[in-house]
Amino acid sequence: MVLSRRRFLASLAGLAALSLPGAALAAPPGKYALAGRVLSGADLRPLDNHAVLVENGLIEAVVPAASVADRPVIGVPGCTVLPGIINAHCHRIHTPEDRRKRWLEHGVTAVGDPGSPLDAMADLARSPAGTTATAAFSGPMLAVPGGYPLPVHDPKYGLVVRSPREAGDAVRRLADRGATMIKLAFEPGVMPRPWPMPDPATARDACDTARRIGLTVRCHVQDLAGLEPALDAGVHTVEHVPHRRFVEGRPRPVLDRDNAVMPAYARLLERMARDAVILTPTLDVLSRSLWNGPALYEPVRAFAAMGGRLAVGNDYPYLRTEAGMVLRELELLGRAGLSGRDALRAATVGSAAACGFTDRGIIARGMRADLLVTDNDPAADPGALAAPLHIVKDGVFVA
Ligand SMILES: [Zn+2]
Repeated sequence: MVLSRRRFLASLAGLAALSLPGAALAAPPGKYALAGRVLSGADLRPLDNHAVLVENGLIEAVVPAASVADRPVIGVPGCTVLPGIINAHCHRIHTPEDRRKRWLEHGVTAVGDPGSPLDAMADLARSPAGTTATAAFSGPMLAVPGGYPLPVHDPKYGLVVRSPREAGDAVRRLADRGATMIKLAFEPGVMPRPWPMPDPATARDACDTARRIGLTVRCHVQDLAGLEPALDAGVHTVEHVPHRRFVEGRPRPVLDRDNAVMPAYARLLERMARDAVILTPTLDVLSRSLWNGPALYEPVRAFAAMGGRLAVGNDYPYLRTEAGMVLRELELLGRAGLSGRDALRAATVGSAAACGFTDRGIIARGMRADLLVTDNDPAADPGALAAPLHIVKDGVFVA
């Protein structure tokens, strides 16, 4: 039995909730199947004429659509079922209401906020199932005195640590307030007066403590000088593709004369790929800077060719990046040579790993039912993500 969405919704008990504009359906849809081309598992393997079985907000199984007999089946011919998109790097959308309106209602079912004030953490921790984009968040980034982000951002975005011991204590304090990630930065800023970067022992203690208590460590690196110390400290992700270096006080690209990644940089990218350190390039925001060009795209291309793991984030709202579906970031990953499927993998599996989500990001048994249904396969036609036919959050139909 294949039902249209309208008939399916009408078959649910939660009809009263439908009359509340913008509200989530009050009744969980319970037991149903979404059918079409299913992008399944960690590799988004396309399975035509399959169905995702959903029960009580979780994915039960992926089975041939024709075999489903015990529940309503939703889908239209030619549609694709894929995991919800995750924006692994964005800021300043803290309340569940904002996250619903700005992200979830556009198909972004989870977000990572690596850098927010302490007083935003309570709102970020509120993600009632089925109603808003689930947030992973770090609270303020750990900063050494005078170091990034303090010279350029509001001080509330930094938490000053002066020693390895203070770094470990800060990580524990942030975890107590609900943080699921930690954010560091290796950013020397602009010459000739570089900002201090974390010393190795302080960075190491922050990473070790975070690892012990199960937090992901995200690390801001835009200058090549910050990459090796960040990797030495043991970070899990590198945020913003490193794209510049200073030579005799002047900013230079990280490419040689043929626009290939410099060998010293390529060795560090190889190390990241080998150690499964994730790169969140944030090309959307960086492409709005003076660095737009091969300095951004070539390192991403090289890293992807090495088998490196990528995540998708656009650093909203900096440099007028936009909320909603991360179409521009996906398009720019294409400019860096990623296939549509690889870009989608970065926006689902990769972003989930960068944020430390272990219960969402792929279509597999036991995962949260955060799902999109689109009229075309977005691996071939990313524009299909601009207006998903259905958005399902924790099994609940949001749209
Ligand atoms: Zn950021």
